[in-house]
Amino acid sequence: MVKQVYTFGGGVKHSDPRSRDKVICGGKGANLAEMAGIGLPVPPGFTITTEECVKYLAEGAEFSDQLRADVAEALTHIEKTVGKSFGDASDPLLVSVRSGARVSMPGMMDTVLNLGLNDETVQGLVSASGDERFAWDSYRRFIQMYSDVVLGVEHHLFEEALEIAKEDNGYVNDVELSASDWQKIVKEYKAIVEKELDKPFPQDVQEQLWGAIRAVFDSWDSDRAKVYRRLNDIPGGWGTAVNVQAMVFGNMGDTSATGVAFTRDPATGEKAYYGEWLVNAQGEDVVAGIRTPQYLTKAARERAGAKPLSMEEAMPEAYQQLADVFELLEKHYKDMQDIEFTVERGKLWMLQTRSGKRTAKAALKMAVDMVAEGLIDEKTAILRVDPMALDQLLHPTLDPNAARDVLGKGLPASPGAASGAIVLDADTAEKRAEMGEAVILVRVETSPEDIHGMHAAKGILTARGGMTSHAAVVARGMGRCCVSGASGVSIDMKSRTLRIGNRELKEGDVITLDGSTGDIMAGEVPTVEPELAGDFAELMIWADKHRRMKVRTNAETPADCKMARQFGAEGIGLCRTEHMFFDASRISAVRQMILAEDEAGRRAALEKLLPEQRDDFAQIFMVMAGLPVTIRLLDPPLHEFLPQGDAEFAELSETIGIGVDTLKRRADELHEMNPMLGHRGCRLGITFPEIYEMQARAIFEAACEVAERLGDAPVPEVMIPLVATKRELAILRKLVDDTAAKVLAEKGRSLDYMVGTMIELPRAALMAGEIAEEAKFFSFGTNDLTQTTLGVSRDDAARFLSPYVEKGIYARDPFVSLDIEGVGQLVQLGADRGRATRADLKLGICGEHGGDPASIAFCEKVGLDYVSASPFRVPIARLAAAQAALAG
Ligand code: ADP
Ligand code: MG
Ligand code: MG
Repeated sequence: MVKQVYTFGGGVKHSDPRSRDKVICGGKGANLAEMAGIGLPVPPGFTITTEECVKYLAEGAEFSDQLRADVAEALTHIEKTVGKSFGDASDPLLVSVRSGARVSMPGMMDTVLNLGLNDETVQGLVSASGDERFAWDSYRRFIQMYSDVVLGVEHHLFEEALEIAKEDNGYVNDVELSASDWQKIVKEYKAIVEKELDKPFPQDVQEQLWGAIRAVFDSWDSDRAKVYRRLNDIPGGWGTAVNVQAMVFGNMGDTSATGVAFTRDPATGEKAYYGEWLVNAQGEDVVAGIRTPQYLTKAARERAGAKPLSMEEAMPEAYQQLADVFELLEKHYKDMQDIEFTVERGKLWMLQTRSGKRTAKAALKMAVDMVAEGLIDEKTAILRVDPMALDQLLHPTLDPNAARDVLGKGLPASPGAASGAIVLDADTAEKRAEMGEAVILVRVETSPEDIHGMHAAKGILTARGGMTSHAAVVARGMGRCCVSGASGVSIDMKSRTLRIGNRELKEGDVITLDGSTGDIMAGEVPTVEPELAGDFAELMIWADKHRRMKVRTNAETPADCKMARQFGAEGIGLCRTEHMFFDASRISAVRQMILAEDEAGRRAALEKLLPEQRDDFAQIFMVMAGLPVTIRLLDPPLHEFLPQGDAEFAELSETIGIGVDTLKRRADELHEMNPMLGHRGCRLGITFPEIYEMQARAIFEAACEVAERLGDAPVPEVMIPLVATKRELAILRKLVDDTAAKVLAEKGRSLDYMVGTMIELPRAALMAGEIAEEAKFFSFGTNDLTQTTLGVSRDDAARFLSPYVEKGIYARDPFVSLDIEGVGQLVQLGADRGRATRADLKLGICGEHGGDPASIAFCEKVGLDYVSASPFRVPIARLAAAQAALAG
């Protein structure tokens, strides 16, 4: 028979590894056993395993005879160690009953303290402690907690009774109540229970104990716990452990206290004890806000200019015991610990320890410091920092000390913060931004025509759309802060005003967005810029040493490229040329090209675009100085560039001298039922080769020009999008090669370059073996590959994807984290088949997934050569790639 009840404390040897295993004994139980095992002062107790909980729930909520026997024996262990008996009328043992799952779970049952008190034993507690007030205070706490947590009597009934008693006596604080006051309250509490439940408060201590154990087990399937599990991906099959532990009392007068502490500052990472404590208090009093807690150290108290003495000053001996424990715990666990302690009449007791939650800044500082201290090695430091947490540090953030006038709230769609004047359309955004004004683009929702305005804006606010809406995805890619789905925002385009909550605003008014919380604020709130320096930079250097995959960036403006290089990008994995076409100065040439009736008309327009496009590429090559740059030829359906509305048609007609009616007819002809699957990607190159030819010429002319200037030749990688067949790529590769040959002959130079393709259609992945005959590299375009494999349009997914994730149909949003089971198979297959044809085929990923740690871990397994992420995600990708390499 496998043991299901484990004792700890009182010199128990923890020879059975199950007793220190979080999976078996829960986090709390395992750490209590571990602390007791290294000789720390832990009140004795026992843990009933999570396995027993799972069995109890499966077997119709029955306790087995074996369990009853084991618990009785374990209780004897506590009694012997403490020298008191459970239920003894002269000197009773009291216990706490605490839940504890594998991971800490706020959804679970609250702890019951002081269990074992009744009308008889309370008298014993009075005489044994010599403190009548303490005994009656403990009894009323017990009745209140047990009735609330185990018996389901609403706690406000007790709180009201206490409030009335305080008012009647003219008291303000609980500490003012005397022994006889508490005694009276106990009577009232018992009456409340009897009235609510039609039976008296249980006086039998065994009934109390088993009632509490049952409540812990049952709490695993409570609604609260279920919600928490769903939100945090915790499987229902884990179960919770129960910890029963001898009470120690922080409420035994002025030499007693209770507190919580961290071995280092969880906000800054500074190596300084950090915590709060209260004299003469019990359990959650510190966090419950009944009284204002005091500082732990003298330094912290002085810094805050607070009066009440710190623990270091008020209880120097107990404080020293605590400081010694801090040192021991960090050496043992090799990590910052979050602990609970109680001082009973001058003696320190440890009640909990766990690895402490921390901010990104603190995580970096602690990891780097601990390496310097020799506590951990570089690899452990790399593995210890959550890559996603770095996001907090990679965007401008609002000055935490600044005041906020919050107007409303939306979804925190893209982190960072921005202030600027409200603008209600993309063109206005661009115009005002060109004049040097900071603007916030506010739309009902955004579409591809708004890209230029989104780029020009400091931040984006939409009234509709979810976390994967167009606005959210594009904003994250650009590193713009974005608040989406702010349903309290209504826009009136006629009067160019808007309403947020109950406040009227107009275009030009300044607002501030916080993309990390979704807050929309009035006026300008000062921000602080991100930088990669200090501990952050140090950890990145270590990560670079240990990773195998390269990290590139998705960028198309020189500014973004510069930013990405500062963040450590080793090349460009995706430069989307269409964004350059939306620019105000060229859009009419682009429209002229699209609306031209024939090739000659198109060529005339392309002539105008060539120097502009050459200049785009030259600027990027200059910034990337010799690093590889993957340029994707034109990809989106042409109609995305079309004029919108009569005014734009009229303006275009004037500029290019073609009648409005003709233009409108051409525009109608370009209308598509389903543009995502329509005339786009390489299909444009096949039907209008002159477009790709112009782009290829621009790339090679720019490369020659920059090679001349820098002496260091760029390495262009020309990427053909949306290929499904080998023949498509063969035709377009020849077009690019011929153009390259022409340009290089004209310039009299040679140049290394590659032609490759995106693998973003299922057919391309399946046919990768054949396609690799025409491609020197593959880049997995997992955005489109996810859309086409799942048959889900990303722009429309917001409507149904969250319920899908809630119901567990997809574990996570497949546009955020790669669907490894499904889409992942196509990536694996494409990589394998491609490499079977061409052993040195270069493989990368350029979808949004290239910046997602779980997807990056998958890319490492597949053996890709690089991942490509948006500039702000480059450090995240560097760290995630290192972790993936270390884990593999
Ligand atoms: P949570 O998981 O919500 O923190 P805990 O089981 O840790 O719940 O307990 C709640 C509070 O009661 C904590 O402050 C803890 O230190 C205190 N506590 C738990 N058991 C005892 C005990 N045996 N003696 C004194 N205080 C206790
Ligand atoms: Mg706790
Ligand atoms: Mg695509």
